[in-house]
Amino acid sequence: MRKPIIAANWKMYKTISEGKDFITNFLPKVKDVYDKEIVIAMPYTLLFVAGEMLKGTNVKLSAENMYVEEKGAFTGEISPLMLKDVGCSYVILGHSERRKYFKETDDFVNQKMLVALKYGIIPIVCIGETLEEREQGKTLEVIGKQIKGSLSKLSTLDAEKIVIAYEPVWAIGTGKNATPQQAQEVHEFIRKKYAEIYGSIPSEKVRILYGGSIKPENFKEIMAQKDVDGGLVGGASLEVESFYKLVMYDKI
Ligand code: PEP
Repeated sequence: MRKPIIAANWKMYKTISEGKDFITNFLPKVKDVYDKEIVIAMPYTLLFVAGEMLKGTNVKLSAENMYVEEKGAFTGEISPLMLKDVGCSYVILGHSERRKYFKETDDFVNQKMLVALKYGIIPIVCIGETLEEREQGKTLEVIGKQIKGSLSKLSTLDAEKIVIAYEPVWAIGTGKNATPQQAQEVHEFIRKKYAEIYGSIPSEKVRILYGGSIKPENFKEIMAQKDVDGGLVGGASLEVESFYKLVMYDKI
């Protein structure tokens, strides 16, 4: 049984006081939730204070990106050691916004993933096709390439541990989500490709999240798909009520 993960991606939203308000209101509502993992990825400026607030709770802290070196002359970057120091258990890597605006490649994402694991941080590695690629019928080809490029060189143990997020680029922040069937088709393909590289046990254990315009109204049906193990949520994670409803997708 794969434990579902409901992960928020706050992107470049929330000041310190807004983040503190969210956490103060959110924690009591989810304090008894242990059948899912709840993760919040937030801007660097919030990590320290949020890390203090989340200590000892069932909500885990995540960063949204990371550099590959522990320390050094890399102005403006944040290291895995620093993320560990501040209490991060997770880090999102290779989000399509980073691939698009900051030109991150599969190879760079792969390096980051391997480094994060060395520091005991679980990477949530994002892959997904653009609208153009989907319209040209290239979705599975693109996903296959991203799996090979971004998710290679793992040990068998780490292959079970990482988290993969399938995020069709055309569905991120657009209000246009993939249908549950479209999501299932790609998730099943990812698991099959993963099995070809790492074998059947890691591929049965690895958790594959869907991301792309998830809302309380569409999440339950997406979660009902056999190979969908959770969600990576942008817009709908910014308000306590909607993120809470997503965490409780199977109860309300
Ligand atoms: C995301 O940020 O990864 C995301 C899926 O955003 P949204 O839910 O807003 O589409």
